Amino acid sequence: MGFYLSEATCNVCGKDAGTVRYRLADNKWCCKKCYKRAELDSSFELMTISVDEVKEMIQKRRYNDGLRSSFVPSRKVGSYLAVDDKRRLWTALGSFGSYKGCRMLGFDDIKGVEIIEVSGPAEKRDANGLPTGGMNSFSANPMSSLGNILQKMVDSESEDAGPEIVCLALRVKVSLKSTRLCEYISVISAETSIKSSSYEKAYGEAIDIVKTLRELGSLPVDEEIKIIHESTKPEDEESKEEKEPEKPKVQSKDRPVVE
Ligand SMILES: [Zn+2]
Repeated sequence: MGFYLSEATCNVCGKDAGTVRYRLADNKWCCKKCYKRAELDSSFELMTISVDEVKEMIQKRRYNDGLRSSFVPSRKVGSYLAVDDKRRLWTALGSFGSYKGCRMLGFDDIKGVEIIEVSGPAEKRDANGLPTGGMNSFSANPMSSLGNILQKMVDSESEDAGPEIVCLALRVKVSLKSTRLCEYISVISAETSIKSSSYEKAYGEAIDIVKTLRELGSLPVDEEIKIIHESTKPEDEESKEEKEPEKPKVQSKDRPVVE
């Protein structure tokens, strides 16, 4: 975004681009309104996005808005997933079950569903309150909850309970046929002890979400659920990863990428 005194025309809508405007690829302009309409934000590299791509994003957003306004949920899984059986649509709900900004997706678009769990020992702290390191790499049986395996190992190693195992994130990842942008449904997003009842409840809900989505997508419902385990990492490593977006990343919701 920049502030410009000279006059210019928005190459997306053809109107006056105003003094506050954005540069797109090929030195084209995008006005503030079109920027909003396309739901662009600072995560996009605008200089690599063409006028046609912005137009397409606006069109897609309008189409999605239309679907959202006609969406009538016939069932829900917790406050995470809503299904409109009549229109054969589903959506991952926002926080507190909100529909704001939700992507409306078709049953037939579901390609695969899996669970991603990030867990490891709660960070031990030294006398200065600094982390003494946690679990950096760990592989475990991919077919059962990583948290549970870790906790069993910790429990059997010593008489006292040892470090508490915590889950930092639990998400359902849905890959789609129509786009390489996956949909993520987050059931745990804050540190939760794997011995807590809220962890157990969230885990059960994640499994319900997977089963429901499989049913919608006509995928085998009772097939073993693939659980991708990620161990907790020291913070500096994590922030380093954030600067390398080409790596597969599950820390945050996938950002739209213009192909
Ligand atoms: Zn415009």
